[in-house]
Amino acid sequence: MRLQLLNPAMLKGMLGMVAGHELSVKQRKPHVRRLIYIALPCAILLALANYLKSGYPLPGLIFALIAALTLGAAFFLSMQDKLLAMAESLLLLFALGTSVALGLLGGIAGSGVLWIYAFPFLALWLKGQRQGAQWSLLWLLSVSLSIWSAGEFSFGYPYEEQFKIQASVALLLYTGIALAYNFSRSQLEEKLYVSEQGVQAKKRDYLTKLEQAAYQDGVTGLPNRLRLLELLHKEINIAQERGHTLLVAHIRLKKMFETANIIGADASDKLIRNIAATMTAAVGSRGSFARIRRDEFVCIYRKHSEDITATDIIKEILDFRLEYKINEYAVHIDHTIGIASFPRHGQDAETLLRKASQAMLQAQFAHQSLAFFDERQEQQFTRQQQLFVQLHEALHKGGLSLHYQALIDLKTGAVVGAEALARWIDPVSGPVTPAEFIPIAEKSGLIKPFTLWVIREAFGQLARWRAEDLNLSVSINLSARCIVDRQLVDDLCALLTEFNLPAESIILELRESSFADAAETAMLTIQNLHTLGFRLSIDDFGAGYSSLAHLKDLKVDELKIDQSFMRTMGIDASSRAIVLSTIQLAHNLNLKVVAEGIESARVEQQLQEMGCDLGQGYYFCKPMPADVFSQWARSWQINRRAVLSA
Ligand code: C2E
Ligand code: MG
Ligand code: MG
Repeated sequence: MRLQLLNPAMLKGMLGMVAGHELSVKQRKPHVRRLIYIALPCAILLALANYLKSGYPLPGLIFALIAALTLGAAFFLSMQDKLLAMAESLLLLFALGTSVALGLLGGIAGSGVLWIYAFPFLALWLKGQRQGAQWSLLWLLSVSLSIWSAGEFSFGYPYEEQFKIQASVALLLYTGIALAYNFSRSQLEEKLYVSEQGVQAKKRDYLTKLEQAAYQDGVTGLPNRLRLLELLHKEINIAQERGHTLLVAHIRLKKMFETANIIGADASDKLIRNIAATMTAAVGSRGSFARIRRDEFVCIYRKHSEDITATDIIKEILDFRLEYKINEYAVHIDHTIGIASFPRHGQDAETLLRKASQAMLQAQFAHQSLAFFDERQEQQFTRQQQLFVQLHEALHKGGLSLHYQALIDLKTGAVVGAEALARWIDPVSGPVTPAEFIPIAEKSGLIKPFTLWVIREAFGQLARWRAEDLNLSVSINLSARCIVDRQLVDDLCALLTEFNLPAESIILELRESSFADAAETAMLTIQNLHTLGFRLSIDDFGAGYSSLAHLKDLKVDELKIDQSFMRTMGIDASSRAIVLSTIQLAHNLNLKVVAEGIESARVEQQLQEMGCDLGQGYYFCKPMPADVFSQWARSWQINRRAVLSA
């Protein structure tokens, strides 16, 4: 402390010569008030003591009066911020006056000076370091003078010479201590204030960052889903007030995951930023964007009329090509857009967003780039979702069955095989056709367990027929998703062994479209199945985009001509020509031909004349449960023998 006092900077600080120690009005006001609350009772007590005890009734009264007037005035002045300094000065003047008076009069036996040492502390507390120091020095001079000159007056107290020196030194010491104390205190306060400011600034910073993270997409800086809901809510209110229409467009970027895998994470962020910039620039001030998932954006667009077509939207609003060069990669991103409009499709933000995203899914399923929300498609979508859940349950709880439809040798009339066709009667939705539930199984990934179930069921049935001496082949339909499943071959082999069946008794039916995608994998599976001895058949031949090149390379055994040709054969010469050519083509390639969908004796006869090998259709029998089929097949064989021997 001694060393610090010698320090000139410290001295300057103590005298308030360093800026920044002044207190604010807000801090000073309670100081004044508190001082008045303490000073008033003290002054009254002092006045009372003088009045009653020390035998100075008149000075006691005068002092009480002055105290009440000055402190009262200071109280009222402190009510106004502008007059606060005056209130402080009044208080200090009162204290200074009291000090000088006590110095002159000496109080009771010269003890008056003992009461005045608090002044520098009060002055510094009230006025801050600079003015406090000035007041303190003034006080030091005035009180010292009053003590030293008291003897000159008749009413003054006759201090001893030594006392005057001791009192003056004590006054000086107290002033010094008060200045040093207040300076250190205010320095400490300042440090605390600075660190508090730092903490507050950090807090604000964290809060801003948290808010940004909660409401903003980190990569593009666009609002995120949470913020989007607020924005959309506001836009709906404005649109309601002004009678506007709003379009909510859900945009999904295609193959972003694959692209990101190729170009890398950083480049993919850059790509997303570029895409966001392109889209926001295209829409401009007419709409606003949000990024709601990695590859999904939402655009809210204000429109004056609801009368807008998909073409208008593409041209007017969402006219952007997403083509970039990122790290030497030329990247082109396709997108699908689903649109819902306010007020037509919904009144609140959540509904509009949900319907826009459903419209986007509808567009995706229909392989379109843009779709408006469609109520009917939504119902279909909901039904598909329901059916998916129910199908899942049916598959695991035995709610599915297989029906069998006969394959007839058109030359001998014998039943040579049966096609296994899946049947599903849902307890809630009733019978659901394969045309409806097979695509659901294919889309949802249920097709693998479903096909495995069909294969196991059909193999089991075939094993029972063989045990009962009913020698048939069983045809099983395989969907495109199964043929690219490498596990399929192993599963088939395992089940073949389990049921002790020859592979030749199994015909696997595939549609031509199965070879379109992932041709190589499909070809490999077919090659493996052929090597294992399974017979392969091309179902619905001629219905899709037939590729004759496939026929040359594929190891298939049979062609099943699509039933649409049988339906038109009677009336359409070109259908007949196609059927005949297909039969000849198949025979030239050493393949068997099956005609499906035979519904009349006439069509059967025409096919026989054309040399078709096998036939299937309602004319012979409809698909039926296994036990009914067994009975039917036995009686058919007996009747056929009877016809042949007749
Ligand atoms: P598909 O394999 O071409 O089966 C023939 C379809 O034609 C069957 O319909 C059968 O009932 C029907 N049909 C047979 N003869 C006639 C006829 O004379 N007239 C008419 N109008 N129809 C006839 P279904 O059972 O409704 O099956 C439809 C399609 O669903 C099947 O066509 C097949 O592609 C698929 N499917 C059925 N079961 C399965 C299965 O277990 N797995 C797979 N992946 N697909 C299956
Ligand atoms: Mg079939
Ligand atoms: Mg077919």
